[in-house]
Amino acid sequence: MKIAFIGLGNMGAPMAQNLLKAGHELTVFDLNTEAVQSLVAAGANSAPSPKAAATNAEYVITMLPAATHVRSVLTGEEGILAGIAKHVTIIDSSTIDPASVKAFAELAKQNGNTFVDAPVSGGTGGAAAGTLTFMVGGSPQAYEHVKPVLAAMGKNIVHCGDTSTGQVAKICNNLVLGITMAGVSEAMALGEALGIDPKVLGGIINTSTGRCWSSDTYNPFPGVIETAPSTRGYTGGFGTDLMLKDLGLATDAAKFARQPVFLGALAQQLYQTMSTKGAGKLDFSAVIKLYRKNGDA
Ligand code: NAD
Repeated sequence: MKIAFIGLGNMGAPMAQNLLKAGHELTVFDLNTEAVQSLVAAGANSAPSPKAAATNAEYVITMLPAATHVRSVLTGEEGILAGIAKHVTIIDSSTIDPASVKAFAELAKQNGNTFVDAPVSGGTGGAAAGTLTFMVGGSPQAYEHVKPVLAAMGKNIVHCGDTSTGQVAKICNNLVLGITMAGVSEAMALGEALGIDPKVLGGIINTSTGRCWSSDTYNPFPGVIETAPSTRGYTGGFGTDLMLKDLGLATDAAKFARQPVFLGALAQQLYQTMSTKGAGKLDFSAVIKLYRKNGDA
């Protein structure tokens, strides 16, 4: 397939590499020329704009930080919609709000194109290994159409429902994640203050009813899980600022739906405090620093 790929960051670059490995013909664009150069070295073509990248493409994929970037890459003078052929599908894998997805899908429709939301979970490790989960929002036909392309980058390709339901799934999952990480942090720090060995406490939680991913895979207390970011100084994981962005998407969507998110709003304030203290680039499990007596956040 001829595929245009826009946004070669921590996630987009390894995803694009996997498309090349699967034998697709790739044309890439990013504002960061170094990121473009490493894809060109791996066999991709580069284009001077999203518009140029989209010309002749059979699929267009975007992997950008936030909705504002997707809007400019899509609708700008040199944007995708200015260059894309009719009936070509645009797949956006960025994590953005459901309302923006619906607006972009409408703009694409007016241009004769289909816009599918397909956010991912699995992190940079999953992107490199080609084992991402894609949460796809769109018609059943659109889902069937994008599935073979997404299969080169992911292991689970799930149809969530109509346009924007992929983002709904992504936002709700990360709402749970932000809350459980704060909960595990609270419990681990309390246990430490009351004098139990954190490794013993972690082991008990992980074989008891408090067990969850934030506890048994990504425990925020250093040394409890050897492979967790907490054990390597909270580096190389899912950034606090990205978690803050996702909780913002959840609380905004909840406002729109007139739906309470008591714990999500509180968790948002915790990660915001971390960000204000200059810890936005640390893995989000560093939120435990707000609880520990010797925490430096
Ligand atoms: P990133 O900041 O590493 O990469 C974004 C890329 O987009 C950069 O290379 C940047 O130069 C490029 N870009 C920005 N504006 C552009 C424009 N106008 N035109 C062309 N290129 C532009 O971000 P990331 O970690 O790759 O995340 C991308 C998306 O995936 C985000 O929405 C994020 O929330 C989501 N996500 C990230 C992870 C993760 O673990 N990092 C996991 C799941 C989902």
